[in-house]
Amino acid sequence: MTNTSLPKDRNSIDQDQFLTILSREEALERFEAVLFPREVSTEQRKLVEAVGCALARDILSPIDVPPFDRSNVDGFAVRSTDLASAAEFASVHLILNEEVIACGTAPTQLVLPDTATPIATGGPIPRGADAVVMVEHTEPSGEHAIEVRRSAFPGQFVSFAGSDIARGEALLRAGTVIGSREIGMLAACGIAEVPTRRSVRVAVISTGDELVQPGEPLPPAAIYDSNGAIVVAAINENGGNAVFWGAIPDDEEKLEAAMHRALAESDMVVLSGGTSKGAGDVSHRIIARLGQPGIICHGVALKPGKPLCLAVCNDKPVVILPGFPTSAMFTFHDMIVPVLRRLAGLPPRSDATVTAKVPVRIASELGRTEFVMVSLVEGADGLIAYPSGKGSGAVTSFSQADGFLRIDALADQMPAGSEAKVTLFTPHVRVPDLVIVGSHCTGLDLVTAPLAHTGLTVRSIAVGSLGGLAAAKRGECDFAPIHLLDDKTETYNAPFLSEGLDLVPGWRRMQGIVFKKGDQRFEGLNAEQAVRSAIADPTCIMVNRNQGAGTRILIDRLLGEARPDGYWNQPRSHNAVAAAVTQGRADWGMTIAPVACATDLGFIPFAEEHYDFALVAARKERPAVRAFLDALASHHTRAALESAGFRPAFDSQ
Ligand code: AMP
Ligand code: MG
Repeated sequence: MTNTSLPKDRNSIDQDQFLTILSREEALERFEAVLFPREVSTEQRKLVEAVGCALARDILSPIDVPPFDRSNVDGFAVRSTDLASAAEFASVHLILNEEVIACGTAPTQLVLPDTATPIATGGPIPRGADAVVMVEHTEPSGEHAIEVRRSAFPGQFVSFAGSDIARGEALLRAGTVIGSREIGMLAACGIAEVPTRRSVRVAVISTGDELVQPGEPLPPAAIYDSNGAIVVAAINENGGNAVFWGAIPDDEEKLEAAMHRALAESDMVVLSGGTSKGAGDVSHRIIARLGQPGIICHGVALKPGKPLCLAVCNDKPVVILPGFPTSAMFTFHDMIVPVLRRLAGLPPRSDATVTAKVPVRIASELGRTEFVMVSLVEGADGLIAYPSGKGSGAVTSFSQADGFLRIDALADQMPAGSEAKVTLFTPHVRVPDLVIVGSHCTGLDLVTAPLAHTGLTVRSIAVGSLGGLAAAKRGECDFAPIHLLDDKTETYNAPFLSEGLDLVPGWRRMQGIVFKKGDQRFEGLNAEQAVRSAIADPTCIMVNRNQGAGTRILIDRLLGEARPDGYWNQPRSHNAVAAAVTQGRADWGMTIAPVACATDLGFIPFAEEHYDFALVAARKERPAVRAFLDALASHHTRAALESAGFRPAFDSQ
């Protein structure tokens, strides 16, 4: 965790801003034009090690399969002409030859006219015979003969040599991606290894002074390196063989040494972070010294992902992905996967798509191709795609979304109600059984946990109370959790419901002031006194909440006209308020009791807020809705909510 590499010449950095931004199409075209066509080297691989690889050449069968004429049934090898007159009431008598042909036994005796040889399924047809009769269609006649009452046609129950695969026949074509079925075919032909395109060795380097590896303790101001793991996995999923070089600090010398070695030992280098041309962002400057032709494009009209840097050094692709994990993943999948797969000789990716309606307007920046992650839910007539991104810095959006939609560079928005094509992250999207859209609360997890354990899938989408109510009115969810105070009646939630929505009581959350335990400006005071004390001290800094939050209304009531230092710091969650106070960015703020308790902060209760559910009445009878209501009413949930600091409301109504 050093910071030794602040730029010496600030001007040169400032002038280095993104002057030429290319469209994604042009960037990809230029990148591929430098890299392809190229000779792809090959390597022999044992079958089990070839799974997922592309074949380098056509594979011809070296043998016939089956290798000999073989019986398909247990029975007797015969001459079909002997049985020409056999019928139900006219049996034919055949003398048994002495040998019995089991599987794996080569026959030695000729089948002469009026004789038969016992043969097992898979046994080689003996010389002279041209058909097999099933044992069920014969009767023993003494110890050495059988009676047959059916005729047989030539070739009956015989698989002829090469009838499955003929020697010299093309088994698999070059470029075929090898899976278990292909391996079965190759094994049946006796092939133990195949020529495949040589796997692409990719060095993965994370950059940043702030990064520590998962599993290590997290020092103040540090974050876990998530790009390293994601990029390694995504490379391996797309025909590459990733080698992780760890996270390297923003130190030009150290990074340059690592990049030189990585380039020498790999076919491709993928870095993340340090591409924004800001202070300390050094990797793109190193590329210029790494090899020819160097940077192909730095700055692509993508959102997220603008700072992507594409380079080719000594004929090898070198890529710097943006640092934000979401940006890193979108640019990787959109711009790097096509190149990686081409290097590995794999066909282009074909992702599954669905059509879904967008329930809200999505604003988009003109001139940049924008990717928006969405969660899919079942609407009244078809799928609905809720934008679920939390900004390019968020890692969780990826695992909570089902896929993404793309807004064209020339569009400045996607209007509410549009039909959009959603590219799925995995082809098997399962629309959730229960959909909760509205205000988020950590207590919600305690209610839905038992549902998840019985196999019901729950999707909860945090859009705030008002957004949830709107979704409920459109019938896009089962429940909308809300906490809205009606100023006129001074009551919570009920005044906001409209026809078709029922109120289901949830729980009460105590809102109050948090401060570091022992802070004498707050200890022992009530909320009004505490805020007066804070305002009286000009060195005291607060943390506020965003406009529209229920908590914000309470803070504004306490502050009146006062605007203390920190008022404009307005995070969007209860947890962020606690983090600001815990880490010393602020001295006080307002959050809910369970959060204060979990972070061991001092807490002055102020007002109890009602967190309830607007239930879409038309969905009442759905099994998942009933399961949710049961879970909500259970003693178990009640106890869990209470021990987390909430006060269940469902009995008191
Ligand atoms: P940078 O492009 O280096 O300015 O990084 C942009 C943002 O992404 C910063 O907030 C970094 O902390 C974050 N970031 C960079 N690399 C990683 C990584 N490997 N894992 C998680 N976050 C990262
Ligand atoms: Mg960085």
